[in-house]
Amino acid sequence: MDTQFIQGARYLLRFDDMCPTMDWSLWDQVEGLLVEAGVKPILAVIPDNQDPRLLVAPPSPVFWDRVRSWQARGWSIGLHGYQHTYVNKDPGILRLNRKSEFAGLGYSEQVEKLQKGLEVFEREGVHADAWVAPAHSFDWVTVSALSALGIRTISDGMALSPYQDRQGNLWIPQQFANMRPMPFGVWTFCYHLEDFTPKAMVTFRKRLKQLGPRMVSLQDVAGMGNRPQSAGDRLVGLLRQAVSGLRRLKR
Ligand SMILES: [Zn+2]
Repeated sequence: MDTQFIQGARYLLRFDDMCPTMDWSLWDQVEGLLVEAGVKPILAVIPDNQDPRLLVAPPSPVFWDRVRSWQARGWSIGLHGYQHTYVNKDPGILRLNRKSEFAGLGYSEQVEKLQKGLEVFEREGVHADAWVAPAHSFDWVTVSALSALGIRTISDGMALSPYQDRQGNLWIPQQFANMRPMPFGVWTFCYHLEDFTPKAMVTFRKRLKQLGPRMVSLQDVAGMGNRPQSAGDRLVGLLRQAVSGLRRLKR
């Protein structure tokens, strides 16, 4: 790939489903690579995981120490729902998955869940830098509830770069699951440890080496969001659909 081609683009990495029972041996490898590359990712932490699919290893007794150390290092911590349990089939604003912990629920119920999650963070001395919805599913009621609780940054959505919604919330788009070079724009790639097969790890290392120098942190891009959503952002949604379509064709 011609490096000139990617000169304008900036990238963020996000890791979801961080919880005490995650695959620590795998994560330690990934964390080592991120430190080595000098990348400051967004780590989406579940305050009180109750999702049985995420019980991969015995619970780490030092989980919150680790979270605090990530935040102290300048890595961003996302509030990844409350318990990561899906209560309905509502796809929310983004319509990516038909399951949600929040979308479709009333305001007071959503506030209550978010408050409980934030209480865990507070008790553990962790600050929520952004909202990261489980299964990308949340609605405008969630956005209002978050905003009332002081969370005005959302890591999600299809756009070319960060933008502000009409209520003044900052959206940092999250477009792809895997790293890839792009010609311009701000792109968040979202990883789940369960997808790290040995082959995927090889590709991850290769792409991290290639795109690492263009990686930024959530704090770095926060100042870029002083603009409304544009027609170019809607094109990204279309491009994303085309890429998923191509992938389906390849299978
Ligand atoms: Zn998740």
